[in-house]
Amino acid sequence: MTPVADPRDVLKPALASPVCPVCKSAEVQHWARAKDVEYYTSADWFDYFRCEPCDVLFLSPLPADRLSEIYPSNYYAYAQSGRSFVQRVKSWLDQRGLRRILREIAGDRLSALDIGGGTGEILNQVRAVDSRVRFTQVVDLDPKAEQIALSRGHAYARSRIEDFPADRSFDLILLLNLIEHVEDPISVLRKAGSMLAPQGRMLVKTPNFDSLDARLFRHRSWGGYHCPRHWTLFTAQSFERAASAAGLRVNRISYTQGAPFWAISIFELLRKAGWVKASADAPAPFHPLIPVLQGVFAFLDLARTPFSHTSQIFVELSRGPGL
Ligand SMILES: [Zn+2]
Repeated sequence: MTPVADPRDVLKPALASPVCPVCKSAEVQHWARAKDVEYYTSADWFDYFRCEPCDVLFLSPLPADRLSEIYPSNYYAYAQSGRSFVQRVKSWLDQRGLRRILREIAGDRLSALDIGGGTGEILNQVRAVDSRVRFTQVVDLDPKAEQIALSRGHAYARSRIEDFPADRSFDLILLLNLIEHVEDPISVLRKAGSMLAPQGRMLVKTPNFDSLDARLFRHRSWGGYHCPRHWTLFTAQSFERAASAAGLRVNRISYTQGAPFWAISIFELLRKAGWVKASADAPAPFHPLIPVLQGVFAFLDLARTPFSHTSQIFVELSRGPGL
């Protein structure tokens, strides 16, 4: 009997000698092939590699010239939509984290910057949990979010953080689910660090690929790849090394629920089995089953957080000796 070929062996990765975006090493191993299983922006396979020296996963080659294709207009619509039960739980958890980090910052008048902050939703929460916050700034690329952010009283720069002028400092800088989307994570961390007030704090939220769902769905377009939009993925340890290379000091790392990744991963299994339908016009994140799956896995992840690592980390940082 002829053994059935594994499609991953047949479809050999395009060998454009991938280089780690964090440490620039070429000592890398092919990790997985994945597809866009959320917005179906193309039928292409994308290759993730793992850097041996610094233990990050990265996409290569980067679809950097295809941004308008891989971030379709309904992508932003989803980010701004809805106040579902899961989103309310998530926002309550975020507020708890925000309150804790703000308590550590001294001063009567504080300023906060949200990089990739969209409509200023999180900055609204920052203001709500601490009345000392007087100036709030969003840096984001989404033109539709700008009007909403301005109407909420936030300053808005329609810019990449790389191009944003670092001419003032901030007491609190947020990089929530942003660092995994950028081409050069170290330079973005360094840029953010250069805008951090001496006693300021930075809060980063990013996926952790050292998790149960990342292992289970490694070769099944794991939701955490958010393929092809997540370009660099860390573990708690590899993020700490990257932050230190960018001149930042890690004060605290905590794990939070990774329900969106579980939900997309399971949904894709069901879709492939023909049990649910989704398409570019009706993408997976809009499917009514997604909030149900997110609810179940948010509960599961929160229940197991004390005992095992989930696929999302919060990292609290301050300026290191090098900045
Ligand atoms: Zn590396």
